[in-house]
Amino acid sequence: MIELIGLTKRYGSFTAVDAIDLRVPKGELFGFLGPNGAGKTTTLRMIAGILRPTAGTIRIGGVDISADPIAAKTMLGFIPDRPFIYEKLTGAEFLRFVGGLYSQNGKDIEHRSRELLALFDLEQWRDELVESYSHGMRQKLIISSALVHKPDVIVVDEPMVGLDPKAARILKDLFREYVRRGHTIMMSTHTLEVAETMCDRIGIIQNGKIRALGTMDDLRSASAEGNTGLEEIFLRLTGENAAREFVDVLDA
Ligand code: ATP
Repeated sequence: MIELIGLTKRYGSFTAVDAIDLRVPKGELFGFLGPNGAGKTTTLRMIAGILRPTAGTIRIGGVDISADPIAAKTMLGFIPDRPFIYEKLTGAEFLRFVGGLYSQNGKDIEHRSRELLALFDLEQWRDELVESYSHGMRQKLIISSALVHKPDVIVVDEPMVGLDPKAARILKDLFREYVRRGHTIMMSTHTLEVAETMCDRIGIIQNGKIRALGTMDDLRSASAEGNTGLEEIFLRLTGENAAREFVDVLDA
């Protein structure tokens, strides 16, 4: 479970995340959507403990991240949008390194790494240096590294970017199975079709505030035109006329 209470991040006088209250319960895959610069990455980085909030509370599995950061982070797997991987480690060494950070024992790490590398078709690359990996292979390795300690909660920023269709499908199935088993996932994405088909609930953030929150059915019934897709709902909430207005400016 993830709980955010009055979560706020300011950069000087600019408020990037504005007093967000949100609860993502056990067994839920929550989709976090919003236009560029809305505050998604800032929120996810605060939950992951990488960025310190200006105000507010974050609880992971009931543990306040500022009161007991190690206990909270032990429950968490974070997949960032711009990951850092040590280029001079092999894929297998990188997973061993990350597993070690989470105090996993060697046998568990080896077993889990083998499963994850097989799942993502990286077996034949396990002993190659990361510097030789393609963008998509790096993404698959980062996803694997966030799962190696079997976290209860996964926080993931734009997971599908760079994945080929097979890997994207594996990740979708993996995430759905993960929440089915009672874990919690909070995922940002710009791919509305992914959010619509995968997520149990969706939150749309703009200018640091949550503008809409609910299941697809909730969002549809709150929308003026009823039975519509997520793209229409998203664009209406966040300013659908931008392109038309721009063309009007060009024509003027
Ligand atoms: P995108 O979809 O483009 O990735 P986002 O919703 O993830 O956007 P954030 O990266 O959270 O957006 O940024 C939210 C706002 O905070 C933006 O206006 C951004 O310019 C600002 N911001 C982020 N990091 C900093 C920083 N270190 N200093 C100042 N402003 C920042």
